[in-house]
Amino acid sequence: MPSFSLWLENRKTRFHELTGNKTASTVIVGGGLAGLTCAYYLAKAGHSVALLEAKTIGSGTSGHTTAHVTSQHDLIYDKLIKRFGLRRAKLIARANQEAIGDIYKIITEEDIDCDFSFLNSYLFTNQEGNIPKIIDENIAANKLGIDAYLTESAWSPVPFKKAVVFPNQAQFNPKKYMDGLADAIVKHGGTIFENSRVLHIKGKTVVTKSGKVTADNIVIATHAPVINFPGMYFARMYQSRAYVVALESGAQFEGMWTNADKKGHTFRLYKDYLLLSGEDHKCGYKGGENHYGNLKSFSKLCFPSSVIKYQWSAQDCITLDELPYIGHYSKNTDYLYVATGFRKWGMTQTNIAGKVISDLITGKENPFTEIYTPQRKVVPMAILKAIAINGAVAADYAAGLINLTNPRCSHMKCGLRWNKDEETWDCPCHGSRFEKDGTVIDSPAIHDLKRQ
Ligand SMILES: Cc1cc2nc3c(=O)[nH]c(=O)nc-3n(C[C@H](O)[C@H](O)[C@H](O)COP(=O)(O)OP(=O)(O)OC[C@H]3O[C@@H](n4cnc5c(N)ncnc54)[C@H](O)[C@@H]3O)c2cc1C
Repeated sequence: MPSFSLWLENRKTRFHELTGNKTASTVIVGGGLAGLTCAYYLAKAGHSVALLEAKTIGSGTSGHTTAHVTSQHDLIYDKLIKRFGLRRAKLIARANQEAIGDIYKIITEEDIDCDFSFLNSYLFTNQEGNIPKIIDENIAANKLGIDAYLTESAWSPVPFKKAVVFPNQAQFNPKKYMDGLADAIVKHGGTIFENSRVLHIKGKTVVTKSGKVTADNIVIATHAPVINFPGMYFARMYQSRAYVVALESGAQFEGMWTNADKKGHTFRLYKDYLLLSGEDHKCGYKGGENHYGNLKSFSKLCFPSSVIKYQWSAQDCITLDELPYIGHYSKNTDYLYVATGFRKWGMTQTNIAGKVISDLITGKENPFTEIYTPQRKVVPMAILKAIAINGAVAADYAAGLINLTNPRCSHMKCGLRWNKDEETWDCPCHGSRFEKDGTVIDSPAIHDLKRQ
């Protein structure tokens, strides 16, 4: 079965390609949730904004998500209190809780029909040994002001022993939401260009194959940032893939569910489908290790009469301290901004990014700016993680240089690995991906592979 996201079933080009020379107060590069949300808040504030998308709106990770709109981001709050202290952890929890309300506000104010509903989010374990982690997460969430509670019985997709419940979370159809955001941006005076990949950025001008936009501010919302220097984001995060199957299973359950025992294993319903995701791994590693097969075997076991209707995979960026980088691209480029590193929990965090960056540009105070600034000090645990990641990267870089039969990435010349599941070339160093014919799929690469 070919990979294809359920959300992108009716995808079509809606906006013209950029041609000629244009100007705007702010140009946003990337039409996923981060770029669109930022463009929306700016346009709504009366700011002139142009958004450039390489393909079509929402065709990147945001069109391949499972769209649990929640502040429950796996086992995280207990860790965040230990890592950042209570004050900062409280701000992080508040930012994510408020984002759910702000997304709902956009949906109601702009009248976006995107199958949004409020429901509970459950983080569960079925292993005796993990029960203390669930209890600690509940205590941490309560300390941070989240109205969480523990349960041992709920209408669940699979058996569980204990779960921490976050009430009043949400789910939606992300593509319908993004189409609604795009309409609202245009309604508020913004401009959107599709099929307009930014190939170069020179000072305050972004350049595509057939046009340019010069602006006072540039926001890089390309998922993995496409400018290498300054910032060096390629060395400060890695990309992790995950796989999704949409099952016609007849299964019914309450809420959205995340399995604390198996990294990235989540369950939600959308209309007649059960969306099951999992099989996380670093991009460029373990490609072709039967990830879809494993999800299929699991679904056959748990939902024997289920039929797989869609399957797809995607990746997200993970920073060294697991918090997104949102704000100034570097301390010496006050006109350049970045939003990245959402750790597979980008529904609320892209909304935070949109508000923080639009507030920085319009000069409005925002209580969360200090938390997410990419210039923050990295905590010691994160440095150890960086050494581990970059050690692996160095080995892959060397492998690419030695083995001349393998293609090399157009980003920084790392050796690419063939991904049998997706039939793509994947970069184990920084997560860029390419079609079989060398066409770029995922950033940070901008350019296609050179055909031999
Ligand atoms: C399998 C999976 C499931 C997930 N499930 C959830 C979930 O349930 N809940 C949750 O909160 N989060 C989830 N996430 C995370 C969430 O989907 C992401 O964090 C979020 O969608 C990232 O949005 P983005 O705008 O940064 O990136 P994208 O959506 O990838 O947008 C970036 C855009 O930039 C464009 N672009 C790239 N280079 C250029 C260029 N040079 N010029 C112009 N445009 C360019 C791309 O084409 C793309 O459209 C999941 C992630 C994965 C991988």
